Amino acid sequence: MQKYNKKVVANWKMNGSFDKIIQDFNRYLNDERTNSNNIVYALPYPYLQYTKKLFIENKSLCSLASQDISQFSNSGAYTGEISGEMLRDCGALYSIIGHSERRNLLNETNSVLVDKIASALKVEMIPIYCIGENINLRRSGEYLIFIQQQLEVLLDPKIVAPSLIVAYEPIWAIGTGVNPSHYEIEETTKFIKKYLSEKLPNLSKYVLYGGSVNGGNAVEVLGIDSVDGVLVGGAALNPAEFTKICDIK
Ligand code: PEP
Repeated sequence: MQKYNKKVVANWKMNGSFDKIIQDFNRYLNDERTNSNNIVYALPYPYLQYTKKLFIENKSLCSLASQDISQFSNSGAYTGEISGEMLRDCGALYSIIGHSERRNLLNETNSVLVDKIASALKVEMIPIYCIGENINLRRSGEYLIFIQQQLEVLLDPKIVAPSLIVAYEPIWAIGTGVNPSHYEIEETTKFIKKYLSEKLPNLSKYVLYGGSVNGGNAVEVLGIDSVDGVLVGGAALNPAEFTKICDIK
């Protein structure tokens, strides 16, 4: 089977339980397909610390991510917020920032996202910055203009990043089972890479694709040269399916 040595990020979203963590990681940490250094598990906050302990006990090669981070980088009177320092304490080396669910359901604005990215960088976490257009923008043909606007966030002077991951996740493909065509993924990820190379030439960057990736379509998606890896939602909750994706990566 063709192997690519690309990244796989599992986004559990607001799913799981202690029992599931114990069961799934008992399996993942004993399988070289899922316990390997290009695999990142973005778990709900309450499970990070415990999973970090499992990783240490099992000399794991994979990493942890948070699914969000506070925009406030210093500790203080911010009830309910979780800082980058706390996330590092709990073992998260990456943080998903700007997922479309948070942009849409929690009204996260670009200026909040700039602060969140800066918060992550301050504690040397690697941001996984999510961008992607909705179906109307795709149909109107204006999606690349919109993608560029979302990328412009990264030019804010508060963001000084040695390394960053951008996840291209068209909203119309997230959790819908709809797969963009090879051409659609390639065109947009190439556009993102070109933009970042021109505007932030010193940045070490990876561009992931996310949206209904599963064990069946991962070969095609990971085979696209401009895709450095995948961000997986639904399929990451199913250990057999997720293992298939990791095997291809
Ligand atoms: C996501 O929400 O980041 C995602 C990629 O979800 P799914 O794989 O379920 O489309």
